[in-house]
Amino acid sequence: MTITKEAILAALSKVQEPELHQDLVTLNMIRNLEITGDKVSFTVMLTTPACPLRGRIDKEVREAVMTVEGVKTIEVKMDSDVPNDGRMRGLVNMPIRNAIAIGSGKGGVGKSTVSVNIAVALAQSGARVGLMDADIYGPNTPTMLGVDKLPPPVEQKLIPATAYGIKMISMGLLVKPGQPLIWRGPMLNSAIRQFLGDVEWGELDYLIIDLPPGTGDAALSLAQALPLSGAVIVTLPQLVSLEDASRGLNMFKQLDVPILGVVENMSYLDLPDGTRMDIFGTGGGEELAKGTNTPFLGKIPIDQNVRIGGDTGKPIVVSHPDSAVAKAIQEIAQNIAARVSVAAMSANNALPINIVE
Ligand code: ADP
Repeated sequence: MTITKEAILAALSKVQEPELHQDLVTLNMIRNLEITGDKVSFTVMLTTPACPLRGRIDKEVREAVMTVEGVKTIEVKMDSDVPNDGRMRGLVNMPIRNAIAIGSGKGGVGKSTVSVNIAVALAQSGARVGLMDADIYGPNTPTMLGVDKLPPPVEQKLIPATAYGIKMISMGLLVKPGQPLIWRGPMLNSAIRQFLGDVEWGELDYLIIDLPPGTGDAALSLAQALPLSGAVIVTLPQLVSLEDASRGLNMFKQLDVPILGVVENMSYLDLPDGTRMDIFGTGGGEELAKGTNTPFLGKIPIDQNVRIGGDTGKPIVVSHPDSAVAKAIQEIAQNIAARVSVAAMSANNALPINIVE
């Protein structure tokens, strides 16, 4: 009996994309379908290379195709095409598919650490990633990535530095070291404009933006000026930090920026004897997420290697990729990527992904 493409597609149309809640065929995620004798091969085009459900989709498509009579061997390839969030399309000279802001209610909660490690984790999964350090008060991502200068500009355009597979640019690299950063309205606005329009990012799947902490003028102007796909709020588990974080959440809500979720940093410390110490309290981030009806993206434990990596220019996802912290960050990065895809796909009325350009 000959196996037909129609029969394979009919079987695959029973497999749902777990987050988009539509089947893989309707979503046009099945590509390069080929049948040779009793062997079927195809590519599943995911909406992000950092897809957390990759394993599940792989298993389900294999099971579905095996139900077709005559099939003996299945070869599945996974590829990805990150959908473009419509918000970025207005900026014709920026081929950036999604811009994600990382904010916090106050400084010192690990916002830059989380931004840097999420950016590198997404790049490790195969995505094209840029990091814009817009924290004008403490632009410390250059130290965290071991970058001390930008390449020379080309034709008036700033060229981002590259580190660990990501492109990055930082306010800290645009001013002389040690020069105090006092930003006033007009200067801030022109700096933002330069950051937005004058950087040669090239094609990016994700631009991660490390915003200034708090809900002051700087954070507000930046969040307003950028066409953000969504925002992530980093907080510590303790109450005072949560009150600040919920103000941060509200700022984004008022600006109509979708909240992708809350990350709780420095959640606990695992001690060598196997016990766990909740230095800053417990469960606060989850409570904040629940109380404000926003997704909880995950907890990141305390580990001195995070600080050491930050000080020596080697992010923990690179220096200790198998540590609990790195694993937590990789999972959070996947969660963020999945949510961005879902948001972009629904904003585009779930058009098949190859049309969403
Ligand atoms: P923010 O950007 O919110 O001001 P940073 O990312 O600069 O905060 O982090 C503040 C300090 O805390 C840095 O020294 C950083 O290395 C350290 N740090 C952040 N997260 C962790 C963590 N999970 N474990 C240990 N140290 C951390």
